[in-house]
Amino acid sequence: MKYIDLRSDTVTEPTQRMREAMMDAIVGDDVYEDDPTMKELEEYAANLVGKEAALFVPSGTFANQLAIFTWCNRGDEVILPHDCHVVMHEVGAASVIAGVQLRSMPAINGQMNPQMVKEAIREDDIHYPETGLICMENAYSDGTVLPLEHMQEIYAIAKAHDIPVHLDGARVFNAATALKVDAKDILRYTDSVMFCLSKGLCAPVGSILAGSKEFIAKARKKRKLLGGGMRQVGMLGAAGLIALKEMRLRLIEDHDNAKYLAEELDKIQGIEVIKDALDINMVFFKITDERLEAQLTEENFFKNGIKINPAEGGLMRFVCHYYINKSDIDKVLGVINEMRRY
Ligand SMILES: *Cc1c(COP(=O)(O)O)cnc(C)c1O
Repeated sequence: MKYIDLRSDTVTEPTQRMREAMMDAIVGDDVYEDDPTMKELEEYAANLVGKEAALFVPSGTFANQLAIFTWCNRGDEVILPHDCHVVMHEVGAASVIAGVQLRSMPAINGQMNPQMVKEAIREDDIHYPETGLICMENAYSDGTVLPLEHMQEIYAIAKAHDIPVHLDGARVFNAATALKVDAKDILRYTDSVMFCLSKGLCAPVGSILAGSKEFIAKARKKRKLLGGGMRQVGMLGAAGLIALKEMRLRLIEDHDNAKYLAEELDKIQGIEVIKDALDINMVFFKITDERLEAQLTEENFFKNGIKINPAEGGLMRFVCHYYINKSDIDKVLGVINEMRRY
C-alpha cells in the first residue's frame, strides 16, 4: 500500500530516472578523486551556487558540522539563531566535533537582531573566546524564508569583523523559489553553504558543502578525518545530478500544494493554520478543538493510509513533496473532515 507521507520531505524516495542513472553511473574511488560522476556533481553544484568548489557529504548534519569544524578552532564561539537546526537537532555535535561554544541569539523566524549580533562579536580580551563563525539558516525550518536584506546586513557585520559566515541551506532551493531569485543571489551573503540533495530534491542520500577552493580543500581532509571519505560514490552522485538539474525546478509545485493544503485546512472548524509561515513546502497548524485533537492522532491517520508526525510544541506540521499531489491532499482533507464527525 502506498501511504500519503506528510511527515517530511526527507521521505522522498529516488525517482525512476534517478535509479536508472545510478545503475549506469561511471564510478571510481572518490578518496583518490577518481570518480568522474562525483566530480561532475561537485562541479555542477559549485557553479549552481556561485562558489569555487563543492564537496559531497553523507548528510546535512555532517555538512553543517564539517563547516563548523573547518572554519573554527576549539574553544571558538559560533553566533547563530537560538532555535536553528544546528542548535536544536544536531545532537550537540558542535561541542563534540569542533569543540566550539554555541552563542545562540534570540531570533524571530530565524532572523537575529543585527545590533545584538554586532554586540555579541568578541573583542580581544584575555577572558574571551574568539568569535569563529556566524551561521544563518535559509529556508528556516519553521516554514519561513530570510529576506535577502537580512542576510546582507548580517553578512556586512561579519565582514567588518573578518568573521566567516556559513549558511545552513538544507532547503536553499526552496528559499530561492519562494524569494523568486537565483540561489546565487542568496549565497552572495555567505562564505560557505550546505544544502541537502535528499529532501525535496528526492536523491536517496547526501548533501553538498560549498565554498572557496581553499575552504573545500581543508574540508575534504576533515571529511576524511570524520570517516566521510567514500569510495564509488558516483552511484549517489548520479542521483544528485538529477536532483539539481531537474527536481530543483519543480519545487514550486510543492509550495503551491502547501498553499492549497493550508487554505483548505484553515476552512476546517477547529484548525488554525499559521498563515505567516507558508513560504515553502510546509504547513504548520494548531488544533483548537479538543474533540478534534483527540481524533487527529498518528494512529487514526495511519489507519487511513496517511503518515504524520505528532505535534511539536503544540504545532502540527504537514510537508508537501514530489510524492504528494493535489488528489492526495484532497484525500487527507476528506479524512480530517470525516474525523470531525466523531
Ligand atoms: C534536514 C536539515 C538538516 C540536516 O540534514 P540531515 O541530512 O537530516 O542531517 C540541517 N538543517 C536543516 C535546516 C534541515 O532541515
